[in-house]
Amino acid sequence: MQKKDVEQKTLRRDGQDGAQATDGQNAAKVENELAEKPSPTLAPPGPRERRFRQTELPPHFIERRKHPRISTEPPPPAAPPRLEDYAPIIGRPELDEIRFLARQLQAKTVKMVNSTAVGGGVAEILNRLIPLLNELEIPTRWEVITGGNDFFEVTKGFHNALHGGDYHLTKQIQEIFLAYNEQNRQRMQFTEDLFVIHDPQPVGLIRSRSENRGRWIWRCHIDLSNPHRGVWDFLKPMVGQYDAAIFSAPAFSRQLGISQYLFFPSIDPLSEKNRDLDENYVNKVCDDFGVDRSRPIITQISRFDRLKDPVGVIEAYKLVKKYADCQLVLAGGGATDDPEGAVVLQEVMDAAGDDPDIIILNLPPWSALEINALQRASTVIVQKSLKEGFGLTVTEALWKKKPVVAGAVGGIPTQVIHKLTGVLVHSVEGCAYQIRYLLTHPEFAQQLGKNGREHAKENFLITVNLKRWLLLFQILLGMAKPSLPAKG
Ligand code: UDP
Repeated sequence: MQKKDVEQKTLRRDGQDGAQATDGQNAAKVENELAEKPSPTLAPPGPRERRFRQTELPPHFIERRKHPRISTEPPPPAAPPRLEDYAPIIGRPELDEIRFLARQLQAKTVKMVNSTAVGGGVAEILNRLIPLLNELEIPTRWEVITGGNDFFEVTKGFHNALHGGDYHLTKQIQEIFLAYNEQNRQRMQFTEDLFVIHDPQPVGLIRSRSENRGRWIWRCHIDLSNPHRGVWDFLKPMVGQYDAAIFSAPAFSRQLGISQYLFFPSIDPLSEKNRDLDENYVNKVCDDFGVDRSRPIITQISRFDRLKDPVGVIEAYKLVKKYADCQLVLAGGGATDDPEGAVVLQEVMDAAGDDPDIIILNLPPWSALEINALQRASTVIVQKSLKEGFGLTVTEALWKKKPVVAGAVGGIPTQVIHKLTGVLVHSVEGCAYQIRYLLTHPEFAQQLGKNGREHAKENFLITVNLKRWLLLFQILLGMAKPSLPAKG
Protein backbone atom coordinates (compact mmCIF):
# COMPACT_ATOMS: atom_id res chain seq x y z
CA MET A 1 0.00 0.00 0.00
CA GLN A 2 1.25 3.48 -0.85
CA LYS A 3 2.26 5.76 2.05
CA LYS A 4 -0.44 8.26 1.02
CA ASP A 5 -3.14 5.57 1.38
CA VAL A 6 -1.98 4.80 4.87
CA GLU A 7 -2.21 8.45 5.83
CA GLN A 8 -5.72 8.77 4.44
CA LYS A 9 -6.80 5.72 6.40
CA THR A 10 -5.36 7.19 9.54
CA LEU A 11 -7.28 10.39 8.94
CA ARG A 12 -10.58 8.53 8.65
CA ARG A 13 -9.90 6.58 11.83
CA ASP A 14 -9.21 9.87 13.59
CA GLY A 15 -12.63 11.10 12.68
CA GLN A 16 -14.19 8.01 14.21
CA ASP A 17 -12.04 7.43 17.26
CA GLY A 18 -11.17 10.95 18.16
CA ALA A 19 -13.15 14.12 17.87
CA GLN A 20 -16.47 12.55 16.91
CA ALA A 21 -16.56 9.78 19.43
CA THR A 22 -15.90 11.67 22.63
CA ASP A 23 -18.92 13.85 23.14
CA GLY A 24 -21.60 13.69 25.79
CA GLN A 25 -22.19 10.40 27.56
CA ASN A 26 -19.77 8.51 25.34
CA ALA A 27 -16.82 10.52 26.51
CA ALA A 28 -16.00 8.61 29.66
CA LYS A 29 -16.62 5.28 27.89
CA VAL A 30 -14.30 6.16 25.03
CA GLU A 31 -11.68 7.44 27.42
CA ASN A 32 -11.88 4.24 29.46
CA GLU A 33 -11.59 2.15 26.34
CA LEU A 34 -8.54 4.13 25.34
CA ALA A 35 -7.08 3.69 28.79
CA GLU A 36 -7.52 -0.05 28.66
CA LYS A 37 -5.74 -0.43 25.33
CA PRO A 38 -1.99 -0.83 25.54
CA SER A 39 -0.55 2.40 24.23
CA PRO A 40 0.98 1.05 20.96
CA THR A 41 -2.56 0.30 19.68
CA LEU A 42 -3.80 3.82 20.43
CA ALA A 43 -4.80 5.28 17.10
CA PRO A 44 -2.55 8.28 16.55
CA PRO A 45 -4.81 11.33 16.59
CA GLY A 46 -3.17 12.82 13.56
CA PRO A 47 -1.16 12.02 10.46
CA ARG A 48 1.54 14.52 11.37
CA GLU A 49 2.30 12.65 14.54
CA ARG A 50 5.26 10.30 14.90
CA ARG A 51 6.41 8.43 17.96
CA PHE A 52 8.49 11.04 19.73
CA ARG A 53 11.98 10.71 21.12
CA GLN A 54 13.30 13.35 23.50
CA THR A 55 15.64 15.72 21.71
CA GLU A 56 18.55 17.48 23.33
CA LEU A 57 17.40 20.72 24.93
CA PRO A 58 19.75 23.64 24.25
CA PRO A 59 21.70 24.50 27.43
CA HIS A 60 20.27 28.01 27.74
CA PHE A 61 16.75 26.58 28.14
CA ILE A 62 17.95 24.13 30.78
CA GLU A 63 19.65 26.93 32.65
CA ARG A 64 16.65 29.24 32.45
CA ARG A 65 14.27 26.50 33.58
CA LYS A 66 16.43 25.89 36.64
CA HIS A 67 16.58 29.61 37.37
CA PRO A 68 13.54 31.34 35.84
CA ARG A 69 13.63 35.12 35.94
CA ILE A 70 10.60 35.67 38.16
CA SER A 71 10.09 39.29 39.15
CA THR A 72 10.61 39.89 42.85
CA GLU A 73 8.95 43.31 42.97
CA PRO A 74 5.44 44.25 41.95
CA PRO A 75 5.44 46.44 38.83
CA PRO A 76 4.02 49.96 39.19
CA PRO A 77 0.23 49.69 39.05
CA ALA A 78 -1.27 50.25 35.62
CA ALA A 79 -3.87 52.96 35.23
CA PRO A 80 -7.23 51.20 35.62
CA PRO A 81 -9.36 51.20 32.48
CA ARG A 82 -12.33 53.58 32.37
CA LEU A 83 -15.78 52.48 31.31
CA GLU A 84 -15.39 54.42 28.10
CA ASP A 85 -12.41 52.22 27.14
CA TYR A 86 -14.77 49.26 26.69
CA ALA A 87 -16.70 50.90 23.84
CA PRO A 88 -14.55 49.35 21.06
CA ILE A 89 -15.14 45.89 22.53
CA ILE A 90 -18.81 45.88 23.55
CA GLY A 91 -20.20 48.79 21.54
CA ARG A 92 -21.76 52.05 22.65
CA PRO A 93 -25.37 50.84 23.14
CA GLU A 94 -24.18 48.34 25.73
CA LEU A 95 -22.27 51.07 27.58
CA ASP A 96 -25.28 53.37 27.51
CA GLU A 97 -27.37 50.60 29.05
CA ILE A 98 -24.89 50.22 31.90
CA ARG A 99 -24.89 53.97 32.57
CA PHE A 100 -28.68 54.06 32.44
CA LEU A 101 -29.00 51.25 34.98
CA ALA A 102 -26.44 52.88 37.26
CA ARG A 103 -28.09 56.30 37.26
CA GLN A 104 -30.85 55.33 39.70
CA LEU A 105 -28.35 53.72 42.03
CA GLN A 106 -26.03 56.70 42.29
CA ALA A 107 -25.05 57.43 45.89
CA LYS A 108 -26.27 54.03 47.09
CA THR A 109 -23.38 52.49 48.99
CA VAL A 110 -22.08 48.94 48.70
CA LYS A 111 -19.69 46.85 50.75
CA MET A 112 -18.14 43.68 49.30
CA VAL A 113 -16.35 41.25 51.61
CA ASN A 114 -14.23 38.21 50.81
CA SER A 115 -11.30 36.35 52.32
CA THR A 116 -8.30 37.21 50.13
CA ALA A 117 -7.09 40.24 48.24
CA VAL A 118 -4.84 38.22 45.93
CA GLY A 119 -4.92 34.84 44.29
CA GLY A 120 -7.96 33.05 42.99
CA GLY A 121 -10.91 34.03 40.89
CA VAL A 122 -12.88 36.07 43.45
CA ALA A 123 -10.05 38.54 44.06
CA GLU A 124 -9.57 38.70 40.29
CA ILE A 125 -13.20 39.77 39.76
CA LEU A 126 -13.38 42.21 42.69
CA ASN A 127 -10.22 43.95 41.57
CA ARG A 128 -12.03 45.13 38.47
CA LEU A 129 -15.70 45.20 39.46
CA ILE A 130 -15.21 47.58 42.37
CA PRO A 131 -13.42 50.37 40.43
CA LEU A 132 -16.14 50.22 37.77
CA LEU A 133 -18.94 50.54 40.35
CA ASN A 134 -17.13 53.50 41.87
CA GLU A 135 -16.72 55.10 38.46
CA LEU A 136 -20.49 54.77 38.05
CA GLU A 137 -20.81 56.78 41.29
CA ILE A 138 -21.99 53.85 43.36
CA PRO A 139 -19.53 54.11 46.24
CA THR A 140 -18.27 50.58 46.81
CA ARG A 141 -15.83 49.39 49.47
CA TRP A 142 -13.94 46.11 49.40
CA GLU A 143 -12.98 44.59 52.74
CA VAL A 144 -11.04 41.39 53.35
CA ILE A 145 -11.60 39.36 56.50
CA THR A 146 -8.59 38.37 58.55
CA GLY A 147 -7.88 35.19 60.44
CA GLY A 148 -5.17 32.97 61.82
CA ASN A 149 -3.88 29.78 60.21
CA ASP A 150 -6.40 27.82 62.24
CA PHE A 151 -9.24 29.75 60.58
CA PHE A 152 -7.94 29.31 57.04
CA GLU A 153 -7.31 25.62 57.64
CA VAL A 154 -10.94 25.31 58.69
CA THR A 155 -12.23 27.30 55.72
CA LYS A 156 -10.07 25.33 53.27
CA GLY A 157 -11.49 22.15 54.83
CA PHE A 158 -15.00 23.58 54.36
CA HIS A 159 -14.15 24.46 50.75
CA ASN A 160 -13.09 20.89 49.98
CA ALA A 161 -16.06 19.46 51.91
CA LEU A 162 -18.57 21.68 50.09
CA HIS A 163 -17.07 20.36 46.87
CA GLY A 164 -18.05 16.88 48.07
CA GLY A 165 -14.95 15.80 50.01
CA ASP A 166 -14.89 13.92 53.32
CA TYR A 167 -14.75 15.99 56.48
CA HIS A 168 -15.08 15.57 60.20
CA LEU A 169 -16.88 18.62 61.50
CA THR A 170 -16.21 18.93 65.21
CA LYS A 171 -17.60 21.38 67.75
CA GLN A 172 -14.14 22.95 68.00
CA ILE A 173 -14.02 23.57 64.24
CA GLN A 174 -17.41 25.26 64.38
CA GLU A 175 -16.22 27.44 67.24
CA ILE A 176 -13.07 28.51 65.35
CA PHE A 177 -15.16 29.45 62.32
CA LEU A 178 -17.71 31.42 64.34
CA ALA A 179 -15.12 33.10 66.56
CA TYR A 180 -13.18 34.56 63.59
CA ASN A 181 -16.38 35.64 61.89
CA GLU A 182 -17.40 37.39 65.10
CA GLN A 183 -13.96 38.99 65.48
CA ASN A 184 -14.19 40.41 61.95
CA ARG A 185 -17.77 41.50 62.48
CA GLN A 186 -16.77 43.47 65.59
CA ARG A 187 -13.92 45.13 63.68
CA MET A 188 -16.03 46.16 60.69
CA GLN A 189 -18.80 48.71 60.32
CA PHE A 190 -21.99 47.97 58.46
CA THR A 191 -23.51 51.24 57.36
CA GLU A 192 -23.94 50.65 53.62
CA ASP A 193 -27.13 50.09 51.63
CA LEU A 194 -25.99 46.79 50.11
CA PHE A 195 -23.68 44.06 51.39
CA VAL A 196 -22.22 41.41 49.15
CA ILE A 197 -20.51 38.63 51.10
CA HIS A 198 -18.45 36.32 48.93
CA ASP A 199 -18.21 32.59 49.66
CA PRO A 200 -18.51 30.72 52.95
CA GLN A 201 -15.55 32.17 54.85
CA PRO A 202 -17.26 35.45 55.91
CA VAL A 203 -20.86 34.16 55.76
CA GLY A 204 -21.29 34.73 59.52
CA LEU A 205 -21.09 38.52 59.09
CA ILE A 206 -24.86 38.29 58.49
CA ARG A 207 -25.23 38.63 62.26
CA SER A 208 -24.88 42.37 61.68
CA ARG A 209 -27.98 42.41 59.56
CA SER A 210 -30.30 43.52 62.35
CA GLU A 211 -28.16 46.59 63.05
CA ASN A 212 -28.94 48.25 59.72
CA ARG A 213 -31.50 48.61 57.00
CA GLY A 214 -29.23 47.28 54.20
CA ARG A 215 -29.89 44.39 51.89
CA TRP A 216 -27.60 41.37 52.15
CA ILE A 217 -26.45 39.15 49.29
CA TRP A 218 -24.45 35.93 49.58
CA ARG A 219 -22.37 35.37 46.45
CA CYS A 220 -21.29 31.74 46.33
CA HIS A 221 -18.49 31.03 43.85
CA ILE A 222 -18.10 27.35 44.61
CA ASP A 223 -19.77 24.22 43.28
CA LEU A 224 -22.44 23.36 45.86
CA SER A 225 -24.08 20.64 43.82
CA ASN A 226 -22.95 17.84 46.15
CA PRO A 227 -21.91 19.41 49.45
CA HIS A 228 -20.82 17.57 52.56
CA ARG A 229 -24.07 17.32 54.51
CA GLY A 230 -22.67 18.28 57.93
CA VAL A 231 -20.79 21.35 56.72
CA TRP A 232 -23.71 22.56 54.64
CA ASP A 233 -26.15 22.02 57.54
CA PHE A 234 -23.87 24.16 59.68
CA LEU A 235 -23.67 27.01 57.13
CA LYS A 236 -27.21 26.89 55.77
CA PRO A 237 -28.96 28.69 58.66
CA MET A 238 -26.55 31.63 58.16
CA VAL A 239 -27.13 31.67 54.38
CA GLY A 240 -30.87 31.57 55.00
CA GLN A 241 -30.73 34.98 56.70
CA TYR A 242 -29.56 36.77 53.55
CA ASP A 243 -31.98 38.50 51.18
CA ALA A 244 -30.59 36.70 48.14
CA ALA A 245 -28.00 34.15 47.09
CA ILE A 246 -26.10 34.07 43.80
CA PHE A 247 -24.62 30.94 42.23
CA SER A 248 -22.45 30.42 39.15
CA ALA A 249 -24.45 27.52 37.66
CA PRO A 250 -28.05 26.30 38.03
CA ALA A 251 -26.85 22.97 39.45
CA PHE A 252 -25.20 24.73 42.39
CA SER A 253 -28.38 26.20 43.84
CA ARG A 254 -29.78 24.68 47.04
CA GLN A 255 -33.13 24.52 48.81
CA LEU A 256 -33.15 27.89 50.57
CA GLY A 257 -35.97 30.11 51.66
CA ILE A 258 -34.47 33.11 49.86
CA SER A 259 -34.28 34.37 46.28
CA GLN A 260 -31.54 32.78 44.19
CA TYR A 261 -29.91 34.22 41.09
CA LEU A 262 -27.54 32.91 38.44
CA PHE A 263 -24.49 35.07 37.72
CA PHE A 264 -21.59 34.00 35.57
CA PRO A 265 -18.21 35.14 36.84
CA SER A 266 -16.34 37.35 34.42
CA ILE A 267 -13.00 38.57 33.18
CA ASP A 268 -11.89 42.06 32.33
CA PRO A 269 -10.70 42.19 28.71
CA LEU A 270 -8.65 45.31 29.50
CA SER A 271 -6.93 44.09 32.65
CA GLU A 272 -3.25 43.21 32.66
CA LYS A 273 -4.31 39.56 32.68
CA ASN A 274 -6.30 39.79 29.47
CA ARG A 275 -5.35 42.81 27.39
CA ASP A 276 -3.61 42.40 24.06
CA LEU A 277 0.14 42.08 24.34
CA ASP A 278 3.00 42.90 22.06
CA GLU A 279 4.55 39.75 20.58
CA ASN A 280 8.00 40.92 21.75
CA TYR A 281 6.78 40.96 25.32
CA VAL A 282 5.37 37.43 24.98
CA ASN A 283 8.77 36.31 23.67
CA LYS A 284 10.54 38.01 26.55
CA VAL A 285 8.39 36.28 29.17
CA CYS A 286 8.95 32.90 27.49
CA ASP A 287 12.64 33.62 27.44
CA ASP A 288 12.62 34.57 31.15
CA PHE A 289 10.95 31.27 32.05
CA GLY A 290 12.84 29.03 29.60
CA VAL A 291 9.75 28.30 27.50
CA ASP A 292 10.69 27.35 23.95
CA ARG A 293 8.30 29.00 21.51
CA SER A 294 9.47 26.88 18.60
CA ARG A 295 7.81 23.78 20.09
CA PRO A 296 4.21 23.14 21.25
CA ILE A 297 3.38 24.51 24.69
CA ILE A 298 0.71 22.90 26.90
CA THR A 299 -0.23 25.12 29.83
CA GLN A 300 -2.29 24.96 32.98
CA ILE A 301 -2.46 28.10 35.12
CA SER A 302 -3.82 27.38 38.59
CA ARG A 303 -3.24 27.69 42.26
CA PHE A 304 -1.42 24.55 43.43
CA ASP A 305 -4.56 22.85 44.65
CA ARG A 306 -5.41 19.14 44.39
CA LEU A 307 -8.85 19.93 43.00
CA LYS A 308 -7.09 21.49 39.97
CA ASP A 309 -5.40 18.09 39.45
CA PRO A 310 -1.92 19.33 38.51
CA VAL A 311 -0.53 15.83 38.97
CA GLY A 312 -3.18 14.50 36.57
CA VAL A 313 -2.04 17.12 34.06
CA ILE A 314 1.53 15.83 34.36
CA GLU A 315 0.32 12.27 33.78
CA ALA A 316 -1.61 13.38 30.70
CA TYR A 317 1.42 15.27 29.40
CA LYS A 318 3.57 12.15 29.86
CA LEU A 319 1.13 10.15 27.71
CA VAL A 320 1.16 12.87 25.05
CA LYS A 321 4.91 13.07 25.14
CA LYS A 322 5.21 9.47 23.94
CA TYR A 323 3.89 10.68 20.60
CA ALA A 324 4.41 14.39 20.31
CA ASP A 325 7.16 16.82 21.13
CA CYS A 326 5.81 19.35 23.61
CA GLN A 327 6.50 21.18 26.83
CA LEU A 328 4.24 21.45 29.86
CA VAL A 329 3.97 24.72 31.77
CA LEU A 330 2.32 24.54 35.19
CA ALA A 331 2.16 28.06 36.53
CA GLY A 332 0.50 29.01 39.75
CA GLY A 333 0.89 30.73 43.02
CA GLY A 334 -0.72 30.88 46.39
CA ALA A 335 -3.74 32.61 47.79
CA THR A 336 -3.61 33.95 51.33
CA ASP A 337 -6.69 31.92 52.24
CA ASP A 338 -5.25 28.63 50.91
CA PRO A 339 -2.82 26.97 53.33
CA GLU A 340 -2.32 23.81 51.21
CA GLY A 341 -0.38 25.40 48.33
CA ALA A 342 3.17 24.55 49.43
CA VAL A 343 2.38 20.88 50.04
CA VAL A 344 0.67 20.50 46.67
CA LEU A 345 3.54 22.30 44.91
CA GLN A 346 5.92 19.70 46.38
CA GLU A 347 3.66 16.89 45.14
CA VAL A 348 3.73 18.46 41.67
CA MET A 349 7.53 18.71 41.67
CA ASP A 350 7.81 15.08 42.76
CA ALA A 351 5.47 14.00 39.96
CA ALA A 352 7.44 16.00 37.40
CA GLY A 353 10.68 14.28 38.40
CA ASP A 354 13.60 15.35 36.26
CA ASP A 355 11.76 15.83 32.98
CA PRO A 356 13.35 19.03 31.62
CA ASP A 357 10.25 19.81 29.55
CA ILE A 358 7.98 20.25 32.57
CA ILE A 359 8.26 23.86 33.62
CA ILE A 360 6.82 24.55 37.07
CA LEU A 361 6.49 28.21 37.95
CA ASN A 362 5.55 29.40 41.41
CA LEU A 363 4.58 32.96 40.57
CA PRO A 364 4.06 35.92 42.89
CA PRO A 365 0.65 37.61 43.00
CA TRP A 366 1.76 40.46 40.73
CA SER A 367 2.26 38.19 37.70
CA ALA A 368 -0.83 39.10 35.69
CA LEU A 369 1.14 40.21 32.63
CA GLU A 370 3.37 37.15 32.76
CA ILE A 371 0.33 34.85 33.01
CA ASN A 372 -1.28 36.69 30.11
CA ALA A 373 1.90 36.14 28.06
CA LEU A 374 2.11 32.43 28.97
CA GLN A 375 -1.51 31.94 27.98
CA ARG A 376 -0.92 33.71 24.67
CA ALA A 377 2.21 31.66 23.95
CA SER A 378 0.38 28.39 24.59
CA THR A 379 -0.60 25.94 21.88
CA VAL A 380 -3.22 24.26 24.07
CA ILE A 381 -4.54 25.39 27.46
CA VAL A 382 -5.60 22.75 29.96
CA GLN A 383 -7.80 23.13 33.02
CA LYS A 384 -8.12 19.58 34.22
CA SER A 385 -10.03 20.38 37.41
CA LEU A 386 -11.72 17.63 39.40
CA LYS A 387 -14.04 20.18 41.01
CA GLU A 388 -14.42 23.77 39.95
CA GLY A 389 -16.61 26.71 40.89
CA PHE A 390 -16.40 28.30 37.49
CA GLY A 391 -12.80 28.33 36.29
CA LEU A 392 -11.83 31.85 35.29
CA THR A 393 -8.63 30.49 33.81
CA VAL A 394 -10.83 28.82 31.19
CA THR A 395 -12.54 32.14 30.42
CA GLU A 396 -9.13 33.79 30.10
CA ALA A 397 -8.05 31.13 27.62
CA LEU A 398 -11.24 31.39 25.57
CA TRP A 399 -10.85 35.14 25.38
CA LYS A 400 -7.34 34.64 23.97
CA LYS A 401 -8.71 32.31 21.28
CA LYS A 402 -6.90 29.31 22.68
CA PRO A 403 -8.09 25.71 22.27
CA VAL A 404 -9.01 24.49 25.74
CA VAL A 405 -9.04 20.96 27.15
CA ALA A 406 -10.91 21.05 30.44
CA GLY A 407 -12.48 18.80 33.05
CA ALA A 408 -16.25 18.53 32.65
CA VAL A 409 -16.94 19.76 36.18
CA GLY A 410 -18.58 22.70 37.95
CA GLY A 411 -18.97 25.78 35.80
CA ILE A 412 -16.59 24.58 33.09
CA PRO A 413 -19.25 23.04 30.79
CA THR A 414 -21.01 26.41 30.74
CA GLN A 415 -17.91 27.77 29.09
CA VAL A 416 -16.58 24.82 27.17
CA ILE A 417 -19.25 23.54 24.84
CA HIS A 418 -17.76 20.24 23.74
CA LYS A 419 -16.17 20.44 20.30
CA LEU A 420 -17.55 23.94 19.77
CA THR A 421 -15.66 26.19 22.18
CA GLY A 422 -13.17 23.62 23.49
CA VAL A 423 -13.17 19.99 24.55
CA LEU A 424 -14.35 18.41 27.79
CA VAL A 425 -12.56 15.49 29.37
CA HIS A 426 -13.22 13.07 32.22
CA SER A 427 -9.89 11.34 32.78
CA VAL A 428 -6.13 11.57 32.40
CA GLU A 429 -6.28 9.40 29.27
CA GLY A 430 -9.06 11.50 27.76
CA CYS A 431 -7.10 14.63 28.49
CA ALA A 432 -4.00 13.20 26.80
CA TYR A 433 -6.00 12.04 23.82
CA GLN A 434 -7.60 15.42 23.27
CA ILE A 435 -4.31 17.29 23.63
CA ARG A 436 -2.79 15.02 21.00
CA TYR A 437 -5.80 15.54 18.77
CA LEU A 438 -5.51 19.31 19.00
CA LEU A 439 -1.75 19.26 18.41
CA THR A 440 -2.25 17.30 15.21
CA HIS A 441 -5.36 19.16 13.99
CA PRO A 442 -4.40 22.83 14.17
CA GLU A 443 -7.29 24.02 11.97
CA PHE A 444 -9.82 22.43 14.34
CA ALA A 445 -7.93 23.91 17.31
CA GLN A 446 -8.02 27.33 15.71
CA GLN A 447 -11.77 27.09 15.08
CA LEU A 448 -12.41 26.17 18.72
CA GLY A 449 -10.39 29.21 19.75
CA LYS A 450 -12.37 31.55 17.53
CA ASN A 451 -15.70 30.20 18.80
CA GLY A 452 -14.44 30.39 22.38
CA ARG A 453 -13.64 34.06 22.02
CA GLU A 454 -17.19 34.82 20.82
CA HIS A 455 -18.71 32.78 23.64
CA ALA A 456 -16.62 34.64 26.23
CA LYS A 457 -17.46 38.00 24.71
CA GLU A 458 -21.17 37.29 24.78
CA ASN A 459 -21.37 35.89 28.30
CA PHE A 460 -18.32 36.26 30.49
CA LEU A 461 -17.03 39.82 30.26
CA ILE A 462 -17.01 42.14 33.25
CA THR A 463 -19.41 44.49 31.50
CA VAL A 464 -22.05 41.73 31.27
CA ASN A 465 -21.49 40.96 34.95
CA LEU A 466 -21.67 44.64 35.92
CA LYS A 467 -25.06 44.97 34.26
CA ARG A 468 -26.39 42.03 36.27
CA TRP A 469 -25.15 43.53 39.53
CA LEU A 470 -26.85 46.82 38.73
CA LEU A 471 -30.12 45.06 37.98
CA LEU A 472 -29.94 42.96 41.13
CA PHE A 473 -29.21 46.03 43.26
CA GLN A 474 -32.25 47.72 41.75
CA ILE A 475 -34.42 44.67 42.47
CA LEU A 476 -33.26 44.36 46.07
CA LEU A 477 -33.74 48.06 46.73
CA GLY A 478 -37.25 47.90 45.30
CA MET A 479 -36.47 50.01 42.21
CA ALA A 480 -37.14 47.19 39.73
CA LYS A 481 -39.14 44.01 39.85
CA PRO A 482 -37.83 40.62 38.74
CA SER A 483 -39.82 39.28 35.81
CA LEU A 484 -40.19 35.82 37.37
CA PRO A 485 -41.08 34.79 40.90
CA ALA A 486 -37.65 34.58 42.46
CA LYS A 487 -38.38 32.59 45.62
CA GLY A 488 -36.10 29.55 45.66
N1 UDP B 1 -4.21 33.14 38.98
C1 UDP B 1 -3.18 34.02 39.17
N2 UDP B 1 -1.99 33.56 39.59
C2 UDP B 1 -1.79 32.25 39.82
C3 UDP B 1 -2.85 31.33 39.63
C4 UDP B 1 -4.07 31.80 39.20
O1 UDP B 1 -3.33 35.22 38.95
O2 UDP B 1 -0.70 31.88 40.19
C5 UDP B 1 -5.49 33.66 38.53
C6 UDP B 1 -5.98 33.07 37.24
O3 UDP B 1 -5.40 33.72 36.12
C7 UDP B 1 -7.48 33.32 37.39
C8 UDP B 1 -7.70 33.14 38.87
O4 UDP B 1 -6.45 33.37 39.51
O5 UDP B 1 -7.79 34.64 37.04
C9 UDP B 1 -8.16 31.74 39.22
O6 UDP B 1 -9.53 31.68 39.10
P1 UDP B 1 -10.29 30.32 38.89
O7 UDP B 1 -11.74 30.62 38.89
O8 UDP B 1 -9.76 29.63 37.67
O9 UDP B 1 -9.89 29.41 40.13
P2 UDP B 1 -9.86 29.65 41.72
O10 UDP B 1 -8.42 29.88 42.06
O11 UDP B 1 -10.74 30.80 42.05
O12 UDP B 1 -10.35 28.35 42.27
